[in-house]
Amino acid sequence: MTATTATDAAGTDEEREQAQFRAAARAWIAQHAPAAGPGARSTGFSASSDDQGRAARDARAWQRLRFDGGWAGLSWPVGHGGRGLPLAFERIYAEEQTAVGISNALLQVGLGMVGPTIIRHGTPEQHDRYLTPMLRGDEGWCQLFSEPGAGSDLAAVACHAVRDGDDWVVDGQKVWTSGAAHSDWGILLARSAPDQPKHRGITCFLVDMTSAGVEVRPLRQMTGGAHFSEVFLTGVRVPAANVLGDVDGGWSVALTTLGFERNVIGGTNLGPDAHAVIRLAVEHGRAADPTFRDALARTYSRERILSFLGDRTRAAAARDRLRGYEGSVAKLAHAQHVRDTSALALRVLGPGALLAGADAPGAGSWQQYFLGGPSYRIAGGTDEIQRNVIAERGLGLPTEPRADRSLPFRELPRS
Ligand SMILES: Cc1cc2nc3c(=O)[nH]c(=O)nc-3n(C[C@H](O)[C@H](O)[C@H](O)COP(=O)(O)OP(=O)(O)OC[C@H]3O[C@@H](n4cnc5c(N)ncnc54)[C@H](O)[C@@H]3O)c2cc1C
Repeated sequence: MTATTATDAAGTDEEREQAQFRAAARAWIAQHAPAAGPGARSTGFSASSDDQGRAARDARAWQRLRFDGGWAGLSWPVGHGGRGLPLAFERIYAEEQTAVGISNALLQVGLGMVGPTIIRHGTPEQHDRYLTPMLRGDEGWCQLFSEPGAGSDLAAVACHAVRDGDDWVVDGQKVWTSGAAHSDWGILLARSAPDQPKHRGITCFLVDMTSAGVEVRPLRQMTGGAHFSEVFLTGVRVPAANVLGDVDGGWSVALTTLGFERNVIGGTNLGPDAHAVIRLAVEHGRAADPTFRDALARTYSRERILSFLGDRTRAAAARDRLRGYEGSVAKLAHAQHVRDTSALALRVLGPGALLAGADAPGAGSWQQYFLGGPSYRIAGGTDEIQRNVIAERGLGLPTEPRADRSLPFRELPRS
């Protein structure tokens, strides 16, 4: 989405600084965008495993260009390879990049979630080891949290870790792990103290995905691609130095990651662009039709509202309110936006868009968004869970009854 132009903003020093930044970002992106491989324009929902592999390679190559040009880690601390700018600058950059069709969706687990979590909870050695390779796109990350019996109720993770000398030995199964097939590292939650209540006996680990005993089995989705995988861990040895945060204190680390995840999905403008649908309607002679005009106006307005919600989310994060409800509001609205916008694009394109191959010019990416869009309602916490968060933390409604909070995990009934 292209919002204001540099010349629109006269006002405050802050506005002038942001306008200058936007102009500089736009110029840099315009100069370098021709070098971005086709995969860097991926929707994040690929039509095949080959597409997924190419998208991952191209996304990393684009990230390296950004890093070398000084446009990576805009809000990351200077000491960790970033530029230390306020979060608003991330949005401005993302808007400019989205406007030319380049997406960072495939690297967001690392850059938007794991990196900021390591910055908050990691040791100086972990900062030195992981942050720069992540920021340069040299190492990709996945999130090994969900399990067949632990999704919305994430504190029910059963994958377990047992200390053995200088290592931990991890056994269990993860599922729905986005990008696992193309990741070098994973952030993993495992049960380390089953005698503790479920929120207290979890430890967070940084796991080398090439370790012996890690098996990744891709899961095919209705897009045709395999965006996520099952991951089986059998006797995987993880050095004790790879514990992130405190032993048995992994729940607090997980909450940080989940807070950043909602912010990334809801607040960084990943997904379809209203201007692209408007251009599509003009190209297909639909822009004069009152029904389409109405829908296009609604799409555009919704996107502007999302942008403001993103600002609100980032402001809350900057005030250390990562565990607030703001990210849930933005995430909920964004999930709706992806579905409605892609459905509108398919209406503009007509029924042929559904039949066209996923690589058909124009139609392909809209088809991918349309087929992948419903998953936004689930990924990063379902719509129902976001509503629970808003009800409890935003509206102050009574919390859900949670009878299992104080019982040892070992004694909880599990299917
Ligand atoms: C595209 C995609 C990518 C994903 N990527 C990752 C990833 O990279 N890493 C990772 O760890 N996980 C990932 N996930 C998993 C995701 O976080 C979980 O699917 C999600 O948290 C829901 O968990 P579940 O699937 O176990 O569903 P369940 O928790 O079993 O929920 C089933 C249904 O019950 C409802 N429900 C459950 N509890 C409540 C409640 N308390 N109140 C009201 N309704 C409730 C849910 O809303 C849902 O409708 C991804 C999922 C998708 C779709």
